Amino acid sequence: MSGISKGKVFLIGAGPGDIGLFTLKGKECLARADVVVYDELANRDLLGFAGKEARFIYVGKKAGSHSMPQDEINDLIVRMALEGHRVARLKGGDPFIFGRGGEEACELVKAGIPFEVVPGVTSAIAVPAYAGIPLTHRDHTSTVAFVTGHEDPTKGDSRIAWDHLASAAGTIVFLMGVGNLARICAELLKAGRSSTTPVAVIERGTLAVQRTVAGDLESIAEIAKDAKIRPPAIIIVGDVVKLRDQLGWFEQRPLFGRRIVVTRAREQASRFVKLLSEMGAECVEFPAIEIVPPESWEDLDDAIKRIKSFRWIITTSVNGVRYFLERLFACGKDARDLGGILVGAIGPKTAEAWHEAGIRPDLMPEEFVAEAVIELFRGHELRNVGILIPRAGGAREVLPEELGKMGAIVKVVTAYQTVKPRRDLDKMRGLLREGLVDMITFTSSSTVRNFLEMFSGERSELLDWMKRVSVACIGPVTANTARSEGLKVDLMPSDYTIEGFARAIREFYGKKDVPSTGRPG
Ligand code: SAH
Repeated sequence: MSGISKGKVFLIGAGPGDIGLFTLKGKECLARADVVVYDELANRDLLGFAGKEARFIYVGKKAGSHSMPQDEINDLIVRMALEGHRVARLKGGDPFIFGRGGEEACELVKAGIPFEVVPGVTSAIAVPAYAGIPLTHRDHTSTVAFVTGHEDPTKGDSRIAWDHLASAAGTIVFLMGVGNLARICAELLKAGRSSTTPVAVIERGTLAVQRTVAGDLESIAEIAKDAKIRPPAIIIVGDVVKLRDQLGWFEQRPLFGRRIVVTRAREQASRFVKLLSEMGAECVEFPAIEIVPPESWEDLDDAIKRIKSFRWIITTSVNGVRYFLERLFACGKDARDLGGILVGAIGPKTAEAWHEAGIRPDLMPEEFVAEAVIELFRGHELRNVGILIPRAGGAREVLPEELGKMGAIVKVVTAYQTVKPRRDLDKMRGLLREGLVDMITFTSSSTVRNFLEMFSGERSELLDWMKRVSVACIGPVTANTARSEGLKVDLMPSDYTIEGFARAIREFYGKKDVPSTGRPG
């Protein structure tokens, strides 16, 4: 194979878990890769940065079995590169810190394959930071060591000079050490480190499920065992661990430790999820609604063809605006054909969707329920005025009916439909049954109904499980639906927007002493 057609391998550090700690360079490499070879610790969400055509090869542990042996991984990346591919080799943390990236690089050199290393934020540094433990601090220590807690079983005696290590480094960070925690502590004690030396163990650091336990060299093994700490975890030994009480910012965020279910449609959930995650919540996305095109475009297209016969277009959702504008284009028209037509948008996000198309709505009610729009129109002369309402199939009739009563000629067309997704319920059922959900959020009546219908075969069990869950509804209409379906509503914001909703959730947990759910051991 010629040198030019030979591929290239990028050894990329995936960072410790929090996707925000992935590097810009890593993202760029992923976007240009043909093949992505990734393992257990790389956050799966990073795969979304790869191109649509990219091939993904998982080389981590399969449930119950072992990871692909290292020499097979080496052979795989060499072969892929020799076939001419650009290979992104995505490894947890940093590839050169206990990541066997060095071994892979040596193999590439041997095979004459060009490569680059894209460092990642190693868990050895990031996880302590998220636990509020600075690894060095002028008052405590100026030395730090990174040590493997999992010695190669094929090695004979320990290659770690425990006696030196115990006294040489003020802070010692162990990776892969959960299984050997008791032995590690024993070795350090034997080598003369004080039994009162503080120790912290952090499981799945930088993620919403991060857990920290702390003690000292004498007590920590027992404490971690009782708390059922599992890998991956970082062990930190040294006086700096004490600073965690003051500096533990990540676990002190208002929604930390709360598992919140978001039932919003996937396309719309991201902002809400981001707001809640930033406050520390672990969001479980469980869309109870899916947005799909109507069965036929006929009605909407007809209305668009005679668009000039309408005086108003009133929209009640972002999707209504998007689908309407999409069809406007599909019908060979554009924004200029809306010239002279007045636009109403219920809710700020709906107005924003119009803004994106360069159109400023004429009417934007402050309150986000249909009844408020009717109030607004009271002063307008609507007799014989044509109003087009492109919206979801099966939406409430209040708006068209009231406008009709005021004399308007209302044309309601289905611009999109919301359907109940078919999904695998096992995971959600398990979380609910085990009492591991703190809150379920509903952002529309359909999400409430669909959610309940998804569990229709086990309605009474569901209502029973829901007793331990706080129910949050975005507004009064959604809340009424929830109540009429037999749910108790614990929370409703005074401001019916996603931001208002997120704020109300923070206040809910801030004010009340609501116990958090347990974490699976
Ligand atoms: N190259 C990686 C380390 C791989 S060894 C890096 O630089 O981070 C695997 C070990 O990394 C685990 O056993 C654990 O000790 C540590 N680790 C990786 N991600 C972690 C996380 N999110 N939380 C705690 N420990 C983590």
